[in-house]
Amino acid sequence: MKVLIADQINQKGIEELEDVAEVVARTDITPEELVNDIKDFDAIIVRSRTKVTREVIEAASCLKIIARAGVGVDNVDVEAATERGIMVVNAPESTSITVAEHTMGLILSLSRKISIADSSVKDGKWEKSHFMGMELNGKTMGIVGMGRIGSQVVVRAKAFGMDIMVYDPYITSEAATELGVEVVDLKTLLKNADVITIHVPLTPETKHLISLPEFEIMKENTIIVNCARGGIINEDDLHEALSKGIISGAALDVFENEPPEESSLLELDNVVLTPHIAASTSEAQRDAAIIVAKEIKKVFKGDSPRNVINMPVMDPETFQLIKPYFRLAEKLGKFLIQTAQGNINELEVTYCGELAEIQKHDIITRILLQEILNPILTEPVNLVNALAVAENRGVIITEGKRTDAKGYKNLISIEVKSEGNQISVEGFLGREPKIVRINGYQVNVKTEGTMVIARYKDIPGIIGSIGVKLGEHNINIAKMQVGRQKPGGEAVMVLKVDQKVSRDIEDAIKALPNVYDAVAVDL
Ligand code: NAD
Repeated sequence: MKVLIADQINQKGIEELEDVAEVVARTDITPEELVNDIKDFDAIIVRSRTKVTREVIEAASCLKIIARAGVGVDNVDVEAATERGIMVVNAPESTSITVAEHTMGLILSLSRKISIADSSVKDGKWEKSHFMGMELNGKTMGIVGMGRIGSQVVVRAKAFGMDIMVYDPYITSEAATELGVEVVDLKTLLKNADVITIHVPLTPETKHLISLPEFEIMKENTIIVNCARGGIINEDDLHEALSKGIISGAALDVFENEPPEESSLLELDNVVLTPHIAASTSEAQRDAAIIVAKEIKKVFKGDSPRNVINMPVMDPETFQLIKPYFRLAEKLGKFLIQTAQGNINELEVTYCGELAEIQKHDIITRILLQEILNPILTEPVNLVNALAVAENRGVIITEGKRTDAKGYKNLISIEVKSEGNQISVEGFLGREPKIVRINGYQVNVKTEGTMVIARYKDIPGIIGSIGVKLGEHNINIAKMQVGRQKPGGEAVMVLKVDQKVSRDIEDAIKALPNVYDAVAVDL
């Protein structure tokens, strides 16, 4: 076996491979040389310099695996690799400790005014009384997002004698208990934390998650750190909060625009800024090199690697049979992440009717999980890693089959348990995917556009009051369906609407008398 090292990687990664392969280091290889020479290699390791383009992949005749010794895979044409049955792997966990340590460094720099005191001494001053600090011991650390990095920050903050509060609506209570942290809502965290640190991905939900209204909830002594992604903190609002003394300090490793040349934050004394270096240590690079080298070894031995980015090769016949159900699974996954509203503990999927005959169901379950997990995680969740990622997050997955599809040709029946909530949904694939049952109530809903789903007491006037509330907010109802088990009991209403429905409108509907719950879903 021959492995091409196309970018500088840590020597430990090379040593890991030397007993199983011929390792060729050509870290100055040009794009043209790569296209010419790739045909001789079974594996290639890159960092970010080398682009593994479609042209390179098509010129490769025995390549089995492309390894990115790091996190992002923007420099690899994953689609082209998938088409040729070539695996792409990365090392997403390699930087977690490094980023957590940088976070602690920034926190200390702020709480003890280290960087500003350093500049003062270097300017020839000795202003001892200027730099009164804040001890971390006994203070409350508020961690927003308890994934790989957030969990590492927990361990370090505990060592400093801090109390921990976590806001992460998508973690299970088992994960929180295991780490011994208190999970709270965002407002409670903002109100009580002395130090706030952000470790969530940048998503539509987390964009400007921390803006002026959130700063206004914080204590005056609060310091805030962002080593996640620029844009999660609204920088204009941060400037206002810092300059008006609403909070005491901020440290950023990431910015809305990088480098932040024009940023007004550069003028402030109570900020510490680093140039997106939270992940830059030689240990993280060493770990990334070792992780991908081990992945390559596994592939050479015929074992499955852990961090595969793309889809496994499947026989074309099974793929054609299963593929039409991907759309239904995608829609059901999207529906569930919006209706389960948070930390899913259990997912039970039953494949019914003609679907019970097909063997490779787990692919459909993976699609479902991909839709459920992708909106909330940093690492791309895909067909390959979906089950492992879900299991790592403590989600119990059960798959079953049933020949009876309740009168439909096929049916995917899903039950999801999340903390304090349980929801079931059934979908059928005819000419298009449809939702045919929600929480046991029969409906017939096309899986597109926006809908409001409300649970309410089946008594006169409730349907009208919900319609009026939507009307007050200029939301037009295009179609309505109701499902109930018996008159006067609980009923479910599905309203297809023409406009997006905000959280505030959702809350206004929930607050109506005899409405138990309401949620807006975009499919
Ligand atoms: P992760 O996917 O392991 O964890 C993210 C966590 O955020 C998950 O537990 C998820 O449930 C939670 N989450 C998602 N949406 C949320 C929301 N709206 N509110 C609260 N919690 C939410 O990710 P990770 O590897 O820990 O990375 C965290 C962040 O750090 C990412 O933004 C990543 O891009 C960034 N990062 C930065 C650097 C750097 O150089 N500064 C390096 C590596 C990672």
